[in-house]
Amino acid sequence: MDENIAIGRAQKLLKDAGIKAAPVDVETLAVFLDFKVSRVELPDTEAGSTFIKRGQKHILVNENDSPLRQRFTILHEIAHHVLELPSKHGDKVPADELERFTGRHPEEILCDVFAAECLAPWALIQPMAEDKEFTLEHLGELAEHFQASRSCIASRFAQASDGHLAFVVAEDGVVKYSIVSKALREARVWITKGIPLPQNSAAAKAYKAGISGPHEADIEGTDWSSSDNARRFACYEQATYHAPTRQTQSILNFEELDQRPVSNGYRAKHDDDDLLEELDGRPGWSKYR
Ligand SMILES: [Zn+2]
Repeated sequence: MDENIAIGRAQKLLKDAGIKAAPVDVETLAVFLDFKVSRVELPDTEAGSTFIKRGQKHILVNENDSPLRQRFTILHEIAHHVLELPSKHGDKVPADELERFTGRHPEEILCDVFAAECLAPWALIQPMAEDKEFTLEHLGELAEHFQASRSCIASRFAQASDGHLAFVVAEDGVVKYSIVSKALREARVWITKGIPLPQNSAAAKAYKAGISGPHEADIEGTDWSSSDNARRFACYEQATYHAPTRQTQSILNFEELDQRPVSNGYRAKHDDDDLLEELDGRPGWSKYR
């Protein structure tokens, strides 16, 4: 099974259950599939569990988790059922696993993909990804709208946008997950899993500082990508660091650099342009569409 199948099944489930608006009613989906959902006290290390008792399918969710987390846990469990992927974590979902990448089975990641499609369905997020800028602020608004985590929304946004952008998650300073938008992929720029965070990146600085919170950086496309085509781009990054999981999330907006041939006359004019633009406090290339 690949991600497209997982996504297709999620879309079919939403359609069959008649769900068309955000925030997606996760309980309705569970009931539609004959699950009984109960919020109960579970150890901190456990996000949820699922089992069948006297013919009734149950999902238990840790009542101490945030409502967003509970929504994701329920959908992750539903995914195991719909995708018919046996759980690699037994009946219980460990709290430190969901939406993380280190040491996880591909089946578990597919279940997260399914959950993300349910939380931020393509048909709903795609028009918003065209309208809105890829910034922490707007991702925060969308996370609220969809009642999903910011990382879930950022992935979906990058998939749906027609801009040059990417979303990168690193753990312990190493890139674990990256999604580049279609336009960036078509420009033949990619970000490889397993590489250390670029030294000048906001994420690397955030990780070294070890303090949760937002950081930003203006760097080169080639800092993020080993692709020759990355030379055509500069990159504006907003990053956040989450100390408990040692995870950084980077929101990358790539701006295509001017491709015109460099002559002396043109060069002088170009430098003037840069100076003029800097007066309003933004580097020329980082202006948003
Ligand atoms: Zn699982």
